[in-house]
Amino acid sequence: MDIRLATPKIQSDSIVDGEGIRSVIWTQGCSHNCKGCHNPETHSFTDGYVLSIDEVKKQIDGLKGQQGITFSGGDPMMQPEACLELAKYSKSIGYNVWCYTGFTFEELLKLGKKKKAILEFLKYIDVLVDGRFILEEKSFDVVFRGSKNQRLIDVKKSLESGSVVLIDKYDNKKNNNRGRKNSYMFV
Ligand code: SF4
Repeated sequence: MDIRLATPKIQSDSIVDGEGIRSVIWTQGCSHNCKGCHNPETHSFTDGYVLSIDEVKKQIDGLKGQQGITFSGGDPMMQPEACLELAKYSKSIGYNVWCYTGFTFEELLKLGKKKKAILEFLKYIDVLVDGRFILEEKSFDVVFRGSKNQRLIDVKKSLESGSVVLIDKYDNKKNNNRGRKNSYMFV
C-alpha cells in the first residue's frame, strides 16, 4: 500500500503539533478548502510524494527522541487505509498518536459507516483535533489549534462513552474552550 505525503520525509522535533516532542506525517490532499488555510500546497491530490507504507515505517523506525506521531496535512482522513496502517504501527512501538482533520468527529462517525477504515483509524488515535479552520474564529489562545471551533478530543473515551470527551488540560482559564460543554452526545 502507498501513501501520498506532502514531504518526502517525516518531520521530527515538532513542539507545536501536539504534546511533547513529536514527529509529523504531513499527508497530501484535502478538499475542505478552508479560507485562510496555512497549507494550501497540501490540497492537491496529485502533488506531493508517493511513498510505500514500508518506507514510511522505516522512517518511523529511524526516529530518535520523539514522544509521539502526529498525522496532519492535508487531511489524513482522506487516506484512511494508509494512515490506519501507520497509526497501528506507531502504537505498536509505543508512540502516542494525534491526528488533525477538517472533519468533525461526528462527521467521521457517519463517514465511517460506509468507509470502515475511518473508524478503524480512529481507534488508533489518542487525540483528534477536529473541524475545519475558520478564519473568523482564528485564535492564538487555543493551544494546538488554529481556530476556536476546533476541538481536542480524547478519542478512546469518546468512543467508549458515546459522547465527545474534550481534553482541556492544555487550556488556561482565559481561553478554556470558551462557550463549550466538555462532552457532546453523539449516539
Ligand atoms: S482541513 Fe486543514 S489542510 Fe484542509 S483546507 Fe482546512 S486548514 Fe487547510
